[in-house]
Order: sequence, then structure tokens, then C-alpha cells
Amino acid sequence: MNNEIILKASNIVKEYRDGAVVTKVLHGVNLEVKSNELIAIIGSSGSGKSTLLHILGTLDSPTSGEILFKGENLLKLGGKKLAQFRNKNLGFVYQFHHLLTDFTALENVCMPMLISGAKKQDAITEGLRLLDRVGLAHRINHKPSELSGGERQRVAIARAIINRPSLILADEPTGNLDRKSAEDVFNLLTQLRAETACSLVVVTHDKDLATRFERCLTMHDGRLEL
Ligand code: ADP
Ligand code: MG
Repeated sequence: MNNEIILKASNIVKEYRDGAVVTKVLHGVNLEVKSNELIAIIGSSGSGKSTLLHILGTLDSPTSGEILFKGENLLKLGGKKLAQFRNKNLGFVYQFHHLLTDFTALENVCMPMLISGAKKQDAITEGLRLLDRVGLAHRINHKPSELSGGERQRVAIARAIINRPSLILADEPTGNLDRKSAEDVFNLLTQLRAETACSLVVVTHDKDLATRFERCLTMHDGRLEL
């Protein structure tokens, strides 16, 4: 297996300033993600997990620190280049799906591929294949409001994977689901990840799910511990 480090975050610090008050949320986090690697991050609410995941995914910037993705300094990218980078290399799954409410399941799944410049028919073919793969062939024309929580997360997974990213970042993807749906969604996420051979960093409250991962890290007061 290729052991290349695809993402290397060094000494990530995040502070929020409100007038004279400074809240330090991340205290110098270091993390290396290898190609094809699975990493779970657990930790109590408010410990900084979402903040870290947003920063790793370039959705937020750190106060200081460095993020290299396949050697490229992500904090130097901006605007259109950054959006293109994200579209091509990263997939996101959130606790609250973040699907576009006015679009169908199929349209939501195809969106990243259309944005990347693919032909419409190719995006539809791949979207249909993925929706079938996540067990939603009978729900392609449903809007998010017409789907169950578990179904929405399965659409979100298909959308995250359609551009074959190198890394999927998932923030409590099963946090809102009942036990059975959580189990199904978690299994699908890990299976599709394996089929795509991408890396996965997943934040979860669920210790049972987290311990199935080869690497499980704990976030504690803005510090990442083994
Ligand atoms: P987790 O995902 O582990 O529950 P978060 O990363 O969401 O934690 O939040 C970490 C800490 O950062 C929390 O104490 C939260 O209140 C604080 N925080 C998040 N966003 C802001 C903000 N915009 N301004 C100030 N503090 C914030
Ligand atoms: Mg969170």
C-alpha cells in the first residue's frame, strides 16, 4: 500500500477574538494523514473537533500553523483556486447533511461533478450509479425534505465521493441518527471509502464506531492526543 502523507497539518492554532477577549480553541495541533488511511477523532463537545475539521478542509483558516496537501501549502491558496482544490480533492459529510433543499437527491449528488466541468450526462451516469450503490435508486427524484435522516446522509456520502477525492472529512455523520441508521451510514461510508481508496477523517461521539478504526485520536481542550 502507498504510504504517502497526503495531508500534514503542523502546529495549528485557532483563536477567536472578541474585543480584548481571546478564546483559544486549538492549541497547536499536529496531524498527518496518509494515503488510504482511516482516522477517527473523538472528544467531548466543545473540545475543538469541528474547528479542526473545518481548518483541515480549508473552510476556515487557522490563526497560525501550516497545512500541506501533497506538499502544496493550502493556506497560500485563495478564491477560485481554493474552491477548485476543494472540489477536486476533498469530500465533506456533515452532521446536518447540508444538502441543497431545492434540488433532488440526484442533482445534489451530481453537483460537485458538474462544478468540476464534467459533461452533464457523465455526471448523471455516475450520480445514478452512486445513488444505487447507497441503496437509493428509488429515491433519486426526492428532495432532502422528502428523505429520512439516514437517507439524507447516504445522499451526502454519494455527493462527497462523486469526484473521487483523496480525502473525506466527516463531522459526526451519524450524530443525528438512530442506532440502526447510524450503523448503516457508517458502514456505507467506510465501504465507499475503501472502493475509492481515499483517506477518511471522521469525528464521532460514538466510541463503538471509533474503535473500529486503525487510528483513533482524542481531542481534549484543543489538543489532539493519541
Ligand atoms: P466540537 O466540535 O468539539 O464540539 P467546536 O470546534 O465546535 O467543538 O468548538 C470548540 C470551541 O470553540 C467551543 O468552545 C466553541 O464555543 C468555540 N467557538 C467556536 N466557534 C466560535 C466563534 N466563532 N467564536 C468564539 N468561540 C467559538
Ligand atoms: Mg462539532
